[in-house]
Amino acid sequence: MTPVRAVKHGRSNKRDPVSGDDGILGTQAISGTTRPGWDEYFMQIARTVATRATCPRASVGCVLTRDRRILTTGYNGAPAGVGHCFDVGCLLVGGHCQRATHAEANAVVQAALHGVGISGTTAYCTHQPCVNCSKLLISAGVKRIVYEFPYIDPIAVQLLAEAGIPSDAFGTMASLHS
Ligand SMILES: [Zn+2]
Ligand SMILES: [Zn+2]
Repeated sequence: MTPVRAVKHGRSNKRDPVSGDDGILGTQAISGTTRPGWDEYFMQIARTVATRATCPRASVGCVLTRDRRILTTGYNGAPAGVGHCFDVGCLLVGGHCQRATHAEANAVVQAALHGVGISGTTAYCTHQPCVNCSKLLISAGVKRIVYEFPYIDPIAVQLLAEAGIPSDAFGTMASLHS
């Protein structure tokens, strides 16, 4: 029987005592298969969450995690009980849809709805949070943001910097937000 050999690639050599995984950015190849690192894993889930978006102008997903566990998720869409953009059309003001609630805000709302504390979480966002979502994430106690697609809002960047919250770009950059 061929012994199973783990090959680690990553920035950290620390192993999670619970799962045995290596660092958050690392990947792990076991018996010819490659496992995603934690950032990749949660970003993949954020991308899947985004597929539930109900506004045709953007598909955005957000996952709030703590201690490598998912607490809540959110995608951009109309408030509960309000018509979806796909069904009744967007409400545009200044080129932005006012019908849909943003993904990050919905992730925070889901926490409130279910009484889940989200202080100390990491927010995995398919898109760089706008200024309003950034303010919500700051006040909700989010400690780190990882985003895939840049949507640069200088005020959001400034407020997050003032709050001391790192905002890390993930993967290949491309602008999709509208
Ligand atoms: Zn819309
Ligand atoms: Zn937003």
